[in-house]
Amino acid sequence: MVFLKDGELASPGEPICVTEEYMPGENVRLDKGGVVVSILRGKVSYDHERRIVRVEPLKLVEKLKVGDKVLVEVKEVQDKIAIANILSINGRLVKHPKTAVILPNPGMKKTMDQYVGIGDLVVASVVTTFMGIIGLSIWRQDLGVVLARCNKCSGMLKKVRKRLICVRCGKGEKRKIVPQYGSIAYLISIMG
Ligand SMILES: [Zn+2]
Repeated sequence: MVFLKDGELASPGEPICVTEEYMPGENVRLDKGGVVVSILRGKVSYDHERRIVRVEPLKLVEKLKVGDKVLVEVKEVQDKIAIANILSINGRLVKHPKTAVILPNPGMKKTMDQYVGIGDLVVASVVTTFMGIIGLSIWRQDLGVVLARCNKCSGMLKKVRKRLICVRCGKGEKRKIVPQYGSIAYLISIMG
């Protein structure tokens, strides 16, 4: 049984899951009834392969500063925002991806799916860390999608002149891209 899902906030003493499913890792302890309990305030992180659960202290999240450049993978696209996982910070890979929110451009009329898609790799700048929520901007010229996936079939989108075309199904899509779109060398340089 899982009481707290991946990425959810745990308080000290709060039950996270039962030990039959996940073994206790960092910052958790085993309670009498076989329940894994958090020992501090932080984010729950499950390692599904190794069947280990740990809690990431909130301090780690606070280490991110406004102005940091991050590489993220888009997980969910809503009307005016997108949810993404941070993969690297200032050219250094993060051990445990943190969740962030891609914020709309002020005055943006189009929906967010005109700029990013699920599975896209995006370079963004941290604009807020207020209350532990990491807000990102992709609107500067040097920020945006580095590599995009087709919304229909998840194929890679290739830049053909000014358009992005799916290499698998041929669908054309729109994104807010960086000038280095599609460059693996550029991607490696920001991954660290
Ligand atoms: Zn496609």
